[in-house]
Amino acid sequence: MDLSNRQEQIIQIVKENGPITGENIADQLSLTRATLRPDLAILTMAGFLDARPRVGYFFTGKTGSELLTEKLKKFKVHEYQGLPIVVEEDVSVYDAICTMFLEDVGTLFVTKEQSLLVGVLSRKDLLRASIGNQDLTSIPVHIIMTRMPNISICEKDDLLLDAAQKLIEKQIDGLPVVKPNGQGLEVVGRLTKTSITKALVELARDQHL
Ligand code: ADP
Repeated sequence: MDLSNRQEQIIQIVKENGPITGENIADQLSLTRATLRPDLAILTMAGFLDARPRVGYFFTGKTGSELLTEKLKKFKVHEYQGLPIVVEEDVSVYDAICTMFLEDVGTLFVTKEQSLLVGVLSRKDLLRASIGNQDLTSIPVHIIMTRMPNISICEKDDLLLDAAQKLIEKQIDGLPVVKPNGQGLEVVGRLTKTSITKALVELARDQHL
């Protein structure tokens, strides 16, 4: 986070004199309390300072990167998940390839009976099935997909960081977001490397308040 000179000065004053009232900080900078109000609000919201009623401001002792990490650790999957693109298990490899192009995604989820997750299809799964195969319309995707129970999943309230960890460990591009419903896992979303990238960009932008 880029702090202004005045904000740096405020932090320094609070570090040395805290707990200290807004009035006293303003005195030390020869400014009015009203002029300082936005800076104090920013520093408090960003987590550098904390304010206690009738006590004043004190320094939290947290560095910029600690505050950033704290924020990142609160991100949940449902804030960044996208719509799942699904195909039924009897759909042909040919049709799955068309769906992948039309929907502009890199991973398809394979379902049966009302969105129950049975498999995953990646770009390379479809490429592999296509090499040397003349009749892609007659091969159903369930023959070539990665199937349950070998599928890494996440749920909407999982931490984004834990989902990101799974993508790295399994070296995959995406996870289905699922909801257990008694009969199996219902596919309700899609979390990809792009979702994680979006979260990072948002985090960086937020830092400039
Ligand atoms: P690509 O194969 O195009 O590089 P991935 O790295 O995502 O894309 O997929 C690698 C392999 O892992 C594929 O065989 C795919 O079926 C499988 N896969 C993809 N996503 C998952 C997942 N969530 N759980 C288990 N396997 C997956």
